[in-house]
Amino acid sequence: MTVDTSTLVTRSQITITESDCSGCGTCLVICPKRAIVKGPVFLEWLSSACIFCDACIDLCPTGAISETRIN
Ligand code: SF4
Ligand code: SF4
Repeated sequence: MTVDTSTLVTRSQITITESDCSGCGTCLVICPKRAIVKGPVFLEWLSSACIFCDACIDLCPTGAISETRIN
């Protein structure tokens, strides 16, 4: 039997929309993996660290963070 492994892994991407962000810093504090950090221009999301717990999405007071499935 041949298994198409490309369909076995679901990947997602976290997007932080700068224009919706108030700069409250909540996501920086509550992320259990420190996967959202301050970058040189704006916040950055570290894909390799994220465990997709969705805490940042649930707790961002302005709805600036979203998750998109990318395959
Ligand atoms: S989904 Fe969870 S682990 Fe990923 S950036 Fe948000 S709070 Fe951090
Ligand atoms: S929790 Fe939302 S509004 Fe606050 S810094 Fe993070 S992205 Fe910006």
